[in-house]
Amino acid sequence: MYTTHSEVDTGSGVPVKEPQRQLYYIELIKDIINKKENETGRKQLMYVNTFGCQMNAHDSEKLEGMLLEMGYGRAEKETEADFIIYNTCCVRENAENKVYGNLGMLKPYKKKKPDTIIALCGCMMQQSSVTDTIRSKYSFVDIVFGTYNLYRLPELLYSRLTSGEQVCEIMTGRGEIVENLPSVRHFRYKASVNIMYGCDNFCSYCIVPYVRGRERSRRPEDIIAEIKSLVADGVCEVTLLGQNVNSYGKGLEEKISFAELLRLVNDIDGIKRIRFMTSHPKDLSDELIYAMRDCKKVCRHIHLPFQAGNNDILRRMNRHYTKEDYLGLVEKLRENIPDIGITTDIMVGFPGEYNVDDTLDIIRKARFSGAFTFIYSKRNGTPAAVMEDQVDPAAVKKNFDSVLGEVNRICAELNLEKVGKVFEVLAEGVCGQDERLLSGRLEDNTLIHFEGDHSLIGSIVNVRVTESRIFYLMGKQEDL
Ligand code: SF4
Repeated sequence: MYTTHSEVDTGSGVPVKEPQRQLYYIELIKDIINKKENETGRKQLMYVNTFGCQMNAHDSEKLEGMLLEMGYGRAEKETEADFIIYNTCCVRENAENKVYGNLGMLKPYKKKKPDTIIALCGCMMQQSSVTDTIRSKYSFVDIVFGTYNLYRLPELLYSRLTSGEQVCEIMTGRGEIVENLPSVRHFRYKASVNIMYGCDNFCSYCIVPYVRGRERSRRPEDIIAEIKSLVADGVCEVTLLGQNVNSYGKGLEEKISFAELLRLVNDIDGIKRIRFMTSHPKDLSDELIYAMRDCKKVCRHIHLPFQAGNNDILRRMNRHYTKEDYLGLVEKLRENIPDIGITTDIMVGFPGEYNVDDTLDIIRKARFSGAFTFIYSKRNGTPAAVMEDQVDPAAVKKNFDSVLGEVNRICAELNLEKVGKVFEVLAEGVCGQDERLLSGRLEDNTLIHFEGDHSLIGSIVNVRVTESRIFYLMGKQEDL
């Protein structure tokens, strides 16, 4: 799906305001791309390579939307593209190494096809050590920009195309929220909607507040307008996105909480399902739990990262809650929404975490229906990176395996309990592994593949679970 934009007047000079300014540059680039196509006799192609989280994936939808609007087509692989962009992640060292590895492979490609434009953007670029390395060792990269100025891709690309010089623009500070630029969606019936950007929490291991800046919330009227236009375009499920959605509204002129926003979204006609992520336990209010309970379109699911179970580790992580607080929240959620699915993030191997007894205790008591489990990755510039008691990797691996084993055992048990029962499922599309099947998700976010007609895609159907696996279910459409 792809949203286009209204006519732009390129005869009255460069607009000062956004998004008109970027729409203006998109028009200018259209002419350049047209010329190139006439010269080469083929379509100009782009390739967007996304690393990292759902926020980055959503940012890439905006990058792709702008590039399609400029006139680029999509390349199937990097080595067919005339414009290649990496939207990078720096949350773990692995993700950074992958970017450098891929860049190394692009060097000979650029040598062979010097007209190819290579751009890097996203979280990694907000670190000066990275931009210094790019400038010194990867001088064939054409455009470098960060997370605050993603919307400025058209202007930066225009500058590169017309000057032939490398363009590097890294912004810091508060960062402007620019609405109404072109965007694409990868799913027809579900979409992500940013409700806020940045994070103020400074968990001691996390680089995000340094690279995505302080929290900035979008105005509720802009969020509602975007969701209404998505509904008009056929979307029936939205996921409200932010690093910490529970603190939505801080800094806005209008006083509004995330719970109130959820109720407003619930009132939009045509929306069938509402999801949100991510929630920080310290900000999960009773008001939000009651809104989840009362709003029928809000899915019975919450992603509530707990990271570690030991109170001393949680304090050193700067998480502002204890194991008991977290388990209290789980209890309150289940009291109010008995069928809720709770998923989480768990980090193993934070400095000083020699055993995971408390983490295992939370896993057993909270009974998560899914968890992202990670090994702690040292991020330079964060307080945890200079903590002395870094744990021996062999001990971390052993602890990680026991955490993963316990998470998987409980997921499998919960999935087995679903066999024979009927659940509402949004049929999202054809199953990637078997095109006779459809794939979708239960309200609690469990993935299911089921037998059903392709005409059901986009609707909510009743599915009886026939088999369970650790990470997904199998089922059959149920005629009720
Ligand atoms: S809440 Fe903590 S872990 Fe999440 S983005 Fe903010 S600082 Fe990072």
